[in-house]
Amino acid sequence: MGVTYLDHAATAPMRQVAIDAMLRVMQAEAGNPTGSHRTARDARKVVDDARDLIAGYFGAEPAEVVFTAGGTEADNLALHGRSPVICSEVEHHAVLEPVQHLGGTHVPVDSDGVIDLEALERMVGPETQAVSLMLANNETGVVQPLHRVARIVRKVAPSALIHTDAVQAAPWLDVARMGKFADAITISAHKLGGPMGVGALIIRNPHRVNAQLLGGGQEQERRSGTHNVAAIAGFAAAVEELGSQREAEAKRVAALRDQLLAGLAAEVPGLAVTAGEAEKLPNFAHVCIADVESEALLIILDDLDVQASAGASCSSGALQHSHVLEAMGVERRLVRGALRLTLGRTTTSEDVDHTVAAVRRAVEQLRGYVPERAKAGA
Ligand code: PLP
Repeated sequence: MGVTYLDHAATAPMRQVAIDAMLRVMQAEAGNPTGSHRTARDARKVVDDARDLIAGYFGAEPAEVVFTAGGTEADNLALHGRSPVICSEVEHHAVLEPVQHLGGTHVPVDSDGVIDLEALERMVGPETQAVSLMLANNETGVVQPLHRVARIVRKVAPSALIHTDAVQAAPWLDVARMGKFADAITISAHKLGGPMGVGALIIRNPHRVNAQLLGGGQEQERRSGTHNVAAIAGFAAAVEELGSQREAEAKRVAALRDQLLAGLAAEVPGLAVTAGEAEKLPNFAHVCIADVESEALLIILDDLDVQASAGASCSSGALQHSHVLEAMGVERRLVRGALRLTLGRTTTSEDVDHTVAAVRRAVEQLRGYVPERAKAGA
């Protein structure tokens, strides 16, 4: 049995079609799409075709797609220069930090991590410039009621920008349908089988983008910088394949996820499924395990060839305190044993069996150690 990779929410393996598309661009004479000669025009056609395809898939017009260097940049770009701004307490740091920088406010969530609509109603006002609510959470996979948020915001602040971070949702949900309640949508290629370092902000006219990167005026003055043509081609190829497979894959993966959660519940005592009642992405299995520490658990799981995450980590890879679980009011005792298992299109039933056995073994080992250490007076 090889390695079981259950960290698709961190990044998904690249699709072969995306690798092939990138290689085609990189092996051709690569032009700068802003030029006027044939090689430049060829590069521009790659970018234009990618823009058409991505716009079509996400229910937008081509002119509404702004290519960025990933989800973080798209989130920052959406909110740049907008104040007052409001977001939920459980947003990704790529939204939380800009909102904090802008002096914005955070709407609380309930114990499932779902936005508190009454609190939002109290906080939004005619002066509100932007409201940002992720479509699905990157730690728990919980899906947010964007349409209900949009109804509240439109009533009180009709000209406010409604932004949704659909980075985690895009591989699994119908973002064209669910995202139509938003004015701006963030997508990242590497979560859906494309390359890292490329993404898009889809922003509906007539909302203005407050450009952060100024320079050559690419992307209609909204995001300067030479396009990463190969990455954009890979992004589009991944989206195209996703379109043909998403529904079937979501069903298959949801069944595997249920099998995984049932196996873990049967084999690991003291395990609580996070946000057990909420609607979640089909690939997310987030649990908290009593009397174990995530960090130690992940190390043992890695040794047992299961690659997972605790959900919250910083750029060094070290575990960070989870603002999401804290906002949900999860007991500290449980937060310490958080484990995020995220499945994906390469996950098999054998991976699930392997993971259940590995988690059981790792937890037994960790719980066994506690009395040993205690006995030795550690
Ligand atoms: N938003 C969410 C919900 C994410 O999960 C991530 C990545 O983990 C990002 C934004 C950042 O995207 P990127 O890695 O493309 O910068």
